[in-house]
Amino acid sequence: MNLRSDARIAIADDEGTWTYADLHARAGRIAAALLSGAGGAGAGKDSLAGERVAIFVSPGGHFVASFFGVLMAGGVVTVLSPLHPAREMAYFCEDAEVRTILVSPDLRPRLEQAAEGRRVLSTHDPVFSDGPQLERPPILGPDTPALQLYTSGTTGKPKGAVLTHGNLETQQRLLAEAWEFTERDTLLHALPLHHMHGLAIALLTALGAGAAVRMLPGFDAKRIWNELPNATVLMAVPTMYTRLFNAFDEAAPEVRAEWQRGARGLRLATSGSAALPATLAERWQVIAGAIPVERFGMTEIGVGTTNPVRGPRKPAHVGLPLPTVRTRIVDDQGRDAEVGELWIAGPSVFSGYYKRAEATRDAFVTDATGERWFRTGDTVTRDADGYFKILGRTSVDILKSGGYKLSALEIEEALREHPAIREVAVVGVPDENWGDRVVACVVAHEGRTDECATELVRTFAKQSLAPYKVPKQVVLFPELPRNAMGKVQKPELTKLLLANEQ
Ligand code: ATP
Ligand code: MG
Repeated sequence: MNLRSDARIAIADDEGTWTYADLHARAGRIAAALLSGAGGAGAGKDSLAGERVAIFVSPGGHFVASFFGVLMAGGVVTVLSPLHPAREMAYFCEDAEVRTILVSPDLRPRLEQAAEGRRVLSTHDPVFSDGPQLERPPILGPDTPALQLYTSGTTGKPKGAVLTHGNLETQQRLLAEAWEFTERDTLLHALPLHHMHGLAIALLTALGAGAAVRMLPGFDAKRIWNELPNATVLMAVPTMYTRLFNAFDEAAPEVRAEWQRGARGLRLATSGSAALPATLAERWQVIAGAIPVERFGMTEIGVGTTNPVRGPRKPAHVGLPLPTVRTRIVDDQGRDAEVGELWIAGPSVFSGYYKRAEATRDAFVTDATGERWFRTGDTVTRDADGYFKILGRTSVDILKSGGYKLSALEIEEALREHPAIREVAVVGVPDENWGDRVVACVVAHEGRTDECATELVRTFAKQSLAPYKVPKQVVLFPELPRNAMGKVQKPELTKLLLANEQ
């Protein structure tokens, strides 16, 4: 995985702009410093040889230089986020056996116990601007580990997925082709950098194509709207669209008109990390002229399927596999099926979970032809045109109630049509009679909680859902527990529901 070194603008952050040449030179000095011993363990070696180096760096040029600096030295990047509590950062550093942390000066105090016993280097260390360049970069083959990224922890403790240079390069190339990235693009970037979406799918794809990336320090709906006229591409998660629309609704008509012009000027807007509710897709279409290109991805595989940029984009579908991504839909017995678990193989699939031999073994199946399939844990189906539809995670979204198998996502889609419901997450609560009792956890629009009473919502749901899919109970929440990517933490919700019942 290489960084270009031409004179084009690569990054614009709140402090200024960086050309590819600037970033490349700085990354080379960071690599040299890590190998010369400034980074501790590298001392005098030719390569960090797979050593994990954590980067805890604010979005912007310093982040990118640090990322490629570690790679150039033959190290494996692991990314810490200000969104992590100190305890969690310490967990990631320990799990990854991190000995060196590259940190932004302003974030340094937040490291707390994660810094203990580790060498901490400031991104503003003078050696990174004036020190020597890396003279003999180690040669890194496609199977060399490059990145250890933690899964979102939606279904359990986050697992460190090890991605190789080959995995990332494949991703970078396939996405740039599918989404038609060129040097003329400017990506507006406000996603967290410690997940696949913000880091590889957004940042690395754009950099690989020689595009410019406007990196914002975090998500701020108004800033996004105001920056749109300078961008050609926006990548977001569904909750970002919700927050963009909330800001839009609060803005004055003339501001809205301007924001809308910005949105219409975009070449492409994408959505991923969680299902994009059709209501949000339609709202974006009204404002921007087209629905977002929804795609399906995972830490372990990058993007697997995407709606086409030019062909038909189908709401509530995640499109077609990228080239080289091989797919199967498989039932409980490992037989090909219409509806079942999505299995994926190909050069973008990760190598395994770090120090989790058992989880890695469980995640892969080698078939009779020797093909090694990754079991995504997502239940999917495919329409007549081959477009995939995600029915949900087999372990949390596929409920078994009264002998039926239900998709929580499908029930959520139906309930979102209810005028008093602002947000909804459907979970299965263990129940003697039903197996899973279907419970809708609902956030009501302001002043409309009365309309969300169980019986009223059930009456509404019966108009569009088969009787066995209608929630048995509706529980109101002030807000839904979500992680950094805006994903609802369903196991957390189930725990809350069970605690309330006692
Ligand atoms: P963990 O593996 O730790 O439980 P996680 O699976 O949420 O957490 P990620 O790798 O960040 O961690 O997320 C991948 C998952 O996100 C997919 O398996 C899928 O369930 C969900 N996902 C991603 N894109 C979409 C989409 N467009 N529609 C529906 N679900 C999606
Ligand atoms: Mg997962």
